Amino acid sequence: MSAPTTYTAQTDRTRILAGDCTVRFEGPRDRVQRGQVVVLVKPDRTVLVHDADGYQPVAWLTRPDDVTIEHDGTAFSLRAHADSQELLVTSNDAAGFESFAVSEAGVPVGSCPDCEGPLVRARDEIHCLDCEDRYGLPAGATVLDDDCKACGLPRMAVDRGASFELCVDYACESLSAAVRERFDEVWDCPDCGSPLRVRSPDGRIFLGCDAYPDCETSFSFPAGTAIGDCECGLPRFRTASGERCLDSGCSVDAPASESPSP
Ligand SMILES: [Zn+2]
Ligand SMILES: [Zn+2]
Ligand SMILES: [Zn+2]
Ligand SMILES: [Zn+2]
Repeated sequence: MSAPTTYTAQTDRTRILAGDCTVRFEGPRDRVQRGQVVVLVKPDRTVLVHDADGYQPVAWLTRPDDVTIEHDGTAFSLRAHADSQELLVTSNDAAGFESFAVSEAGVPVGSCPDCEGPLVRARDEIHCLDCEDRYGLPAGATVLDDDCKACGLPRMAVDRGASFELCVDYACESLSAAVRERFDEVWDCPDCGSPLRVRSPDGRIFLGCDAYPDCETSFSFPAGTAIGDCECGLPRFRTASGERCLDSGCSVDAPASESPSP
């Protein structure tokens, strides 16, 4: 028998082990079970042991501190532990052992211009399933059913003062440049009257006073469209969570301090 190989959980693979196994769970309620089971080890290290009955695993450990799998080609043993709990799965005869690449599942949004692989949107990112390409999306962006003429990537709609339609690749079309072109020096600093400049040193967009560093007034740019002026003189925005002043601390938006009791 060859020396066992030791595996640990990997962020981009799910491991599947299957066969006649003894499953030992040591924790608040110790128990031992044996049967023909399938064991999944997910990229976050979560271990799920499924048998033929029902949909629930017969044993599991959610995100244990560590998982070690020893495998010698015919048999395996898996050990996972978290705090005072330990899960041991040992195969009793020849067992199956496979490892599959996994990715985050998302909404299909087109194909990759670099490799023609499928592009999916998961959370605030578009990524290609076949190559390493990924494109972060600004908060609140909607991916459009429309490709960029220049590079072939999908286009997106995003609200920053106005609605902009741009390529999802910042290097192709820059949201901060579009916002700067439209809103630079449009509003004035409430503290000193100098124009507010559109700035984005690190990707986030904000409005900062032109008199900086003498005046340090600045506001993050809301993810919404400008819909007129606030009583305080700054613009108001309509966002996904409601209307608000550019100044999130504006007293016009503050809840009444003394609400009359019914
Ligand atoms: Zn690709
Ligand atoms: Zn493009
Ligand atoms: Zn100022
Ligand atoms: Zn206001």
